[in-house]
Amino acid sequence: MAAPTPFPALLAPIRLGAHTVRNRTLMGSMHTAMEHLDRSIERLAAFYAERARGGAGLIVTGGFAMNVEAKLDDHGPILTTAEDADALRPISQAVHEAGGKILVQVLHTGRYGKTAALVGASNIPSPINRRVPRTLSTAEVWRTIDDYVRCAELSMRAGFDGVEVMGSEGYFLNQFTTTRCNNRTDEFGGSVENRHRIVVEIVRRTRERLGPEALIMYRLSALDLVEGGAPADEVIALARAVEAAGADVINTGFGWHEAKVPTIAYLVPRAAFRFAAARIKRALKIPLIVSNRINTPDVADEIIASGDADMVSMARPFLADADFVRKAAAGRPDTINTCIACNQACLDYIFTQRPTSCLVNPKAGRELEFAEMPASRGRRRVAVVGAGAAGLACAITAAERGHAVELFEAGAAIGGQLNLASAVPGKEEFHELLRYFRTRVADGGIALHLNRRLQAGELAAQRFDHVVVATGVRPRVPALQGIEHSKVVGYADLLAGRKTAGDRVAVIGAGGIGFDVAEYLLHEEAGATNGHAADGVAGFLAEWGVATAPEVPGGLAQPQPPRPRRTVTLLQRKPEKPGRTLGLSTGWALRARLEQRGLQMLSGCSYERIDDAGLHLVVEGKPMLLEVDTVVVCAGQESENAFADELRTLGVAPAVIGGAEVAAELDALRAIDQGTRLAMTF
Ligand code: NAP
Ligand code: SF4
Repeated sequence: MAAPTPFPALLAPIRLGAHTVRNRTLMGSMHTAMEHLDRSIERLAAFYAERARGGAGLIVTGGFAMNVEAKLDDHGPILTTAEDADALRPISQAVHEAGGKILVQVLHTGRYGKTAALVGASNIPSPINRRVPRTLSTAEVWRTIDDYVRCAELSMRAGFDGVEVMGSEGYFLNQFTTTRCNNRTDEFGGSVENRHRIVVEIVRRTRERLGPEALIMYRLSALDLVEGGAPADEVIALARAVEAAGADVINTGFGWHEAKVPTIAYLVPRAAFRFAAARIKRALKIPLIVSNRINTPDVADEIIASGDADMVSMARPFLADADFVRKAAAGRPDTINTCIACNQACLDYIFTQRPTSCLVNPKAGRELEFAEMPASRGRRRVAVVGAGAAGLACAITAAERGHAVELFEAGAAIGGQLNLASAVPGKEEFHELLRYFRTRVADGGIALHLNRRLQAGELAAQRFDHVVVATGVRPRVPALQGIEHSKVVGYADLLAGRKTAGDRVAVIGAGGIGFDVAEYLLHEEAGATNGHAADGVAGFLAEWGVATAPEVPGGLAQPQPPRPRRTVTLLQRKPEKPGRTLGLSTGWALRARLEQRGLQMLSGCSYERIDDAGLHLVVEGKPMLLEVDTVVVCAGQESENAFADELRTLGVAPAVIGGAEVAAELDALRAIDQGTRLAMTF
């Protein structure tokens, strides 16, 4: 009997207008910030082609401005001339040669722009941009519509299959469609029909100009998540109008950039917003695409099989693994490198003007750099000591390049600090990363030695060609009176479940791990008592105040955070506000969630002692006693590098990576990148 087809709903082809797309996956649009790099077009072509080769059904580029005012910043990509179009041709060609299809996203950033020439539906600034937009005149709006159409036409000249008109996330078109930032009195303001006019005209005229062959997608804001946002009936009316105007497919977005609800960060449960896509889908004849926090083929397949959407958009998951579809189709979803929604090397890089990459896949966006995989100098014997993030990345890359790799780990399992991260509520995706590494170690033929605390002499005697020491870190123990007290718990013991905390807790150290520990302590299972589950989609929506009732404008309700039983105070010595080192695009949400759950934070602390009464400290010159049952120490780490030192005394020159090399500010991003790059040199 033939084996059942894996993921039959996800992998079935779909007709979008004149095009047949080979499966139901869309690699959604992301800014790449590669435009300023040398050979940027070549890099982009390699980046997208790799995803097409890996089976992505349809790809959408990052946003291109249709005129100067539309640009995100002065360097933002623009598509306004035949020369611009001709320069992009290698991208469409490379994707087509790889068997894929690709659209250009046409994006006007409106009042989110960082240029001097900011324009909008009205002169109402965004809360996340101090610049005030200039209100476009009626004639200028019509001219902008022409610019959209011209940009679409140029996309076809550049060999693309069509366009995605970006109408979500609070950008320019959203600023017309809602009353929040549209107080116009001309034909583009006032009634719902008037506010929708610009969108309908863009789609209608684009179809007229491009004819039936072009694939036209509209990205609709399914849920604005801002005050003054659209209720569901207006969203559905817009979707129907876009359909009638000639769009082939509607993609969805959730939450404007200025929304105070996280929509893609790791603390958003998978597929949390599908409910809003599903009600639009039922009102349409053309296919609908759902997005946001869908990162595995089984979730994607289930959504499509359920009828809630026709396709699934995954942007970051295709950064994490270009071969997502190919692996799913081969019945090996366990080999997929899953996006953990950390945003650390994608969005956070973009926000700091660095080209996009991926924490779990440092090759993403650097396809030219990592092009040569097989080792050129033949098979070498490689020993890696320590199976944390750095050691694992090094071992699997070395094995992939054809080397014979032995991986030694003193503990009973691989993963090192990744195991602690996976214990933090909301960071469950780290389990996927651990699963990926386990599979790669097994499939790569790596000889894994668990529970094996090697002696340096033993290793030296085996004469490996390359010795890599990735022995990681040990938690720093501050020199503080009473640090041996029974109420003191190290973060590693707490997160590993070896020790527990009482109801009143002080956390020393407000770095990434201090915040993670606060999250762990203030989580439902660990201490909340108000009865509504903080886990899962329903709990998330309630906690952040997302309304599922269609009549609620913008989909916003009163947040209902859980009331944890515990009180937690997070402390640091620096005088600045705690949390500065958290991720740019995720830290705000974590801080907001913890503050809503009652987290207290103190800066400028000087610790005096710990005793039966609690933690004695001085804050801004004033003595204070925190009467706590438990003091959790999250005071950073120190390198565990004694093994490397011993090897050196025996004449072995190891490569030392990860926390064993530098403990300060070590995280999985640096560890995986460093391990991967080292293995590329063998
Ligand atoms: P960290 O970010 O270096 O923070 C250590 C904290 O301990 C700081 O708040 C520091 O602040 C305090 N500290 C340092 N020495 C101390 C001492 N002798 N006595 C008392 N307090 C002391 O380290 P971490 O939190 O352990 O995190 C380790 C790495 O993992 C970091 O790179 C972090 O970014 C990463 N990580 C990232 C995330 C994320 O969400 N992206 C999550 C977890 C971990 P003061 O000196 O001001 O007191
Ligand atoms: Fe996903 Fe993190 Fe990679 Fe971004 S950096 S694609 S969020 S795993």
